Parts: sequence; C-alpha cells; structure tokens
Amino acid sequence: MADGTVIIGAGLAGLSAAYHLKKGFEVFEADTTPGGLLQTKEVGGYKFDRTGHLLHLKDAYVRGLVQGLLKGNLKEHARNSAIYSKGVFSGYPFQANTYGLPGDAARECVEGFMSAPGRSAGAAEPENFRDWILHHMGEGIARHFMLPYNAKLWRYPLEDMSVEGIAPYVPIPAVDDIKRGATKEGAEGLGYNAKFFYPERGGIYSLVEAFLPFVRQLSLGQRAVEIDAERRTVSFDTGYTAWYDDLISTMPLPELIKIIKDVPKDIRDAAERLRYVSVYDISLGVAREKVSPYHWVYFPEDCFPFYRAGFLDNFSPDAAPSGCSALYVEVSHIPGDDTPPGALVESVLAGLVKSGILTEDDEVPVRDVYDIKYGYVVFDAHFKAAHPAITGWLSSKGIRSIGRYGAWEYSGMEEAILEGRAAAEAVRR
Ligand SMILES: Cc1cc2nc3c(=O)[nH]c(=O)nc-3n(C[C@H](O)[C@H](O)[C@H](O)COP(=O)(O)OP(=O)(O)OC[C@H]3O[C@@H](n4cnc5c(N)ncnc54)[C@H](O)[C@@H]3O)c2cc1C
Repeated sequence: MADGTVIIGAGLAGLSAAYHLKKGFEVFEADTTPGGLLQTKEVGGYKFDRTGHLLHLKDAYVRGLVQGLLKGNLKEHARNSAIYSKGVFSGYPFQANTYGLPGDAARECVEGFMSAPGRSAGAAEPENFRDWILHHMGEGIARHFMLPYNAKLWRYPLEDMSVEGIAPYVPIPAVDDIKRGATKEGAEGLGYNAKFFYPERGGIYSLVEAFLPFVRQLSLGQRAVEIDAERRTVSFDTGYTAWYDDLISTMPLPELIKIIKDVPKDIRDAAERLRYVSVYDISLGVAREKVSPYHWVYFPEDCFPFYRAGFLDNFSPDAAPSGCSALYVEVSHIPGDDTPPGALVESVLAGLVKSGILTEDDEVPVRDVYDIKYGYVVFDAHFKAAHPAITGWLSSKGIRSIGRYGAWEYSGMEEAILEGRAAAEAVRR
C-alpha cells in the first residue's frame, strides 16, 4: 500500500517526476527494467539503443541536469546527417542542401520554393500536413523529399493529418539558405550547425542509471490494470493495490483510459480511436569498420523499406567491438502488422547494399528485431477534437498524464524531463 504520489511507468518522464518530487512517491513499472524507450541492449559485444536516442538539449535547466547526472560521460556532437535519394547522399535538411542532386531536381526545388504560396504575405495557413508542406516548401522539395519521406514514416494519408503537433519539428529554411544550398559552396558551408549530446560510454541507458539512485521507491514488474479515480486506488497485475493522493501516469493515453473505472462512454470511444504508428527497430552488428561517415541517413524513396538508418559507433566508439559497426534501421508499420523478422532483415540488408552502405560480402553476425508498439502519435482530425476532451476529463479526475505517450504528443527526451518536473511541481503545490 502506497500513499502520497503514485507514478505509473519508469520511463524518462516517470523517473524525472520522481527525481523532482524527491520524496513521498512510489513508481510502478510494468517491465522488469526501468527506462521505457531508453534501453541499451548488449549483444555479441555491440550496444544497441532502441533505434537512435540522441539528446537535443535546448533547455538550459535540462542540459545542466543531464550533464550533472552523467558526470562527464556526455559528449557534444555536430550533427552529420544526410539524405540518400536518386543515388546520391545530400546534406540534411534536404530543403537547404539540394546541390549535387541529379537532373533538374535542384533547380525544381529552388524554383518551387521561390513560388511557394507560403512566401506571399497574408496567405492562409493550410490545415492538413500535405498542403502545409506544399505551401511552405513548394512543389520541388515536396515531390523530391518531403512528401515521399513523410508518407513512408507516417503510413497514413498526409492530407488527413493535421500539422500542430509536427510543424515545430520541420525546419522551414530561409530563402538565402535554399539558394546557397543549391550551390557547391553553399551546401558545404551551410550554417545549420545543429548539435546533439550522447553518452560516451554505456549507451542511452546510462542516463536511466544516473537517475536511479534518486528513485529508490521503484517497484518493477507491476503493471497497472485498474484505476479507481473515486477511491484513489491503482491495482496491479500482481494483486497489489496502491492508494494515492496524487497520480502521475506515463503509460500510453488510450491504455490509461481503458483501465480507469467508470469512464464516460464518449471519452472511452474517443480514446479508442486515437491512432499511432509502430516502428520496427532493426539492430545490425557488422564486422567491418565505419560503414558510413554519417550519424544517420534519411531514405525517402519507396524502393527502400526503411525511412532512416543510423550508425551508433559514430556517436560512441563503445557501441561496437573494434573494427566493427553498429547500425539501427527504422521501418514504420501499421500496429499489428507482423512481418516475420527474417524477411524484414533480408529486405533491410538488400536496401543497405543497394545504397552502397553495405556490400554483398559484409558479415552481419548480429541481427535483432524489436517492435516498438507505440512509435509516433498520428495527428488527424479525430485527434484534434478528441485530445482536449480526453485530457480535460482526466484533469477533472486529478490524473496527470505526461510523457510522449501519456500526453499523446510528438516530443523527445528533453520534454519528458520537463514534463516530469512540471508534474512534480504541480503535485507539491
Ligand atoms: C523510434 C524513436 C526514436 C526516438 N528518438 C529520439 C531521439 O533521438 N531523441 C529524443 O530526445 N527522443 C527520441 N524519441 C522519443 C523518446 O523515446 C521519448 O520522448 C521518451 O523516451 C518518452 O519517455 P516516457 O517516459 O514519456 O515514455 P516511455 O519511455 O514509453 O515510458 C513509459 C513507461 O511506462 C511503462 N508502462 C506502460 N504501461 C504500464 C502499466 N500499465 N503499468 C505500469 N507501467 C506501464 C512502460 O513500460 C514504460 O517503461 C524517440 C522515440 C522513438 C519511438
């Protein structure tokens, strides 16, 4: 029996809530290890995260916290990412790095951008994602990258998606960047200069480990299966029941609504219809050094089953045995799809060979597939109406649902830490 604050889930949002509460809480985690999506699995001398988990630390508080927790085990990197399209690698973001694209593609991108409707003063903002891309990027960039890439990632008609949740994450370059990026000198010198942080040793799980000494009241292997918001209890699949004064949940929003007793029918129905896409995380250990110079590469074309591939040994040499490379490859899919892992790996390997990253002769001793059930929240017309209704009802019951899947949003680790802190502060008030 607990009292004070019950926290459901020991992913980064739950760990941060506990860390900032300091006392008077208990965290219950369904899994046998904490960390949620922040896992680092060791296989055959390689260390694989759940795809790439890079720390984009824009907030000064979060940056200081993470640096302090990791005590020097954190390195800053200047992003080196690329797009593979039409047989060549070009710089990221595509819209400002079109130099080197074959045929008329670079010209089409620049001309399309210059005549994009969004460049006219007073043009109305489109509501759907497809029109938003055309409006801001123009025909060329849309056709050559933005539309095929996003269609592959989201697996959902872009014209049925709304933009609020995604637009802040899509860089709209300035005219000068577009023009310079279409010339050799411009593409090479473009000042996008994005940075990210990553632990030097131990993968992203080292951040979880750094939080744990501050989160002693943590029960693993306890899946919340029923919440009674009137009696203020949470029951677990182990038979244990916890009483709470305050409840912070980080479990996926549709699952949270499912386990709360006496939810009004309209809220229950609304939560059931929230959509998301899943991601196959394919980890590959390759017995050859530095198969790519990049941190990660985007693949917009249909002939590649994956939308992105990353190279963990370029973040941290600790990720692969000496002379080897550690890759992650991301394939999104409709939840419930069950492509056999063997077929998935074969098609991914064929794509990597086609792009020249791997050769037919490469030895790939490690091939691991993990299905991330909740990958990306889909922002559609239903979401727009349903989300405020669901979160409003939860607030009326005093339940704080936070984190990428608790709040049901497109966010990263920095936001998970900030949302955990905000929930802790709200509880203490
Ligand atoms: C493919 C992919 C790549 C990403 N890359 C990046 C990146 O490069 N940089 C970045 O900043 N962010 C990245 N993110 C986002 C990042 O993973 C999340 O923002 C962050 O991990 C969310 O933490 P969380 O605690 O909200 O959720 P989670 O990590 O999902 O934690 C929720 C926890 O709740 C537990 N739980 C669920 N149900 C129950 C239950 N019934 N009872 C008890 N416990 C339960 C789960 O087991 C889990 O441990 C990526 C995400 C994905 C999918």
